[in-house]
Amino acid sequence: MKIVSKLPDVGTTIFSVMSNMATEYDAINLSQGYPDFDVPAELAERLNHYTVSGYNQYPPMHGVAYLREQIARKVNDLYAVSANVNSEITITSGATEALFVAIHTLVGNGDEVIVFDPAFDSYDPAIKLAGGKAIHIPLSSRCFSIDWERVREAITPRTKAIIINSPHNPTGSVISSTDLDELAELACAKDIVVISDEVYEHMVFDGQQHHTIAAHPDLRDRSFVISSFGKTYHATGWKVGYCIAAPALTVEFRKVHQFVTFTTHTPTQWAIADYMDHHPEHHQALPAFYQAKRDLFAQALTEIGFGLVPSKGTYFQLATYDMLSNLPDMEFVTQLTQKVRVAAIPVSVFYDVPPEIRLVRFCFAKENDTLLEAARRLDSHFS
Ligand code: PMP
Ligand code: GLN
Repeated sequence: MKIVSKLPDVGTTIFSVMSNMATEYDAINLSQGYPDFDVPAELAERLNHYTVSGYNQYPPMHGVAYLREQIARKVNDLYAVSANVNSEITITSGATEALFVAIHTLVGNGDEVIVFDPAFDSYDPAIKLAGGKAIHIPLSSRCFSIDWERVREAITPRTKAIIINSPHNPTGSVISSTDLDELAELACAKDIVVISDEVYEHMVFDGQQHHTIAAHPDLRDRSFVISSFGKTYHATGWKVGYCIAAPALTVEFRKVHQFVTFTTHTPTQWAIADYMDHHPEHHQALPAFYQAKRDLFAQALTEIGFGLVPSKGTYFQLATYDMLSNLPDMEFVTQLTQKVRVAAIPVSVFYDVPPEIRLVRFCFAKENDTLLEAARRLDSHFS
């Protein structure tokens, strides 16, 4: 039997393609973004504790109260943002669900959503499935910042939302407070909602601060602010995230959320809440932890002949390779995976119209020994 595809132009996500190739060729997997080290032992123990202690039935539809309280405390401590535990915070099954729900809450047939390329690959299909159209605007090719003039020109009466992502996957760029002011001016003038993907909020380097949309007075009430515990607690497979939004937006968000997943795995919510409560130092240590890995790997890549785009946040390093190969990026990463046995992500797949510049993305959320072994393999191949 044949059915009409709702996503005729979509294949299997690049993350699965490259991870499968890495497994097949026994390559070090620096492609899909996940750590090769484990969750903190005490967090794993807490998960076990809540599982064997009977915390296994449906939690409230909008999430376990203890976890929502910890999120409220965290955003208050870190960003001086006050978020109401009952009416503004919803726990979701990963940021992916939160993004999907926020998009479906806002977007109807023919509506437009502005996204910035290179864009995380779940945005465009979610917009299409809602009947909308993604309007792709490339980030500047040098420092991957937003050209606000282009955004102004792209806005039409059908523009419902703008999706921003800072720290930015795949480029590692971060948004500035001036960017937020520009965004606020446009969003307010044109009555546009902002969907802010902040899953790498705790990975910002070189002493910089993360600028959350939730702290901007003019954006606070017209935004869905989305984050994920997967990145922060080295637990990408747990798929627990959340969305903070003003009560009127949250009411509509929850109407969709309740029929997408209804709710999220109960003992994991309790375990994360408990761990957040007792270990606020965990996320405070992440910038230095990841910055050291960034620096270790960046130096090795530079010595091999890669050109680096400064990674200001996330756990990704973008690299040019024109000194090493003339291949297009997909062919280059295929060769790296199959011959050098180091897997990476080709960046052109995140563009509507791929740029001239050829780039690959490496994930440095790995043990130092893993990074050094990857560097050794690359070095012995290219030298
Ligand atoms: N947004 C971005 C930019 C990401 O890198 C990821 C990581 N997969 C997600 C959203 C999804 O997060 P989660 O795994 O919590 O669904
Ligand atoms: N966020 C991860 C990355 O960018 C992968 C997420 C996924 O596999 N869907 O590599």
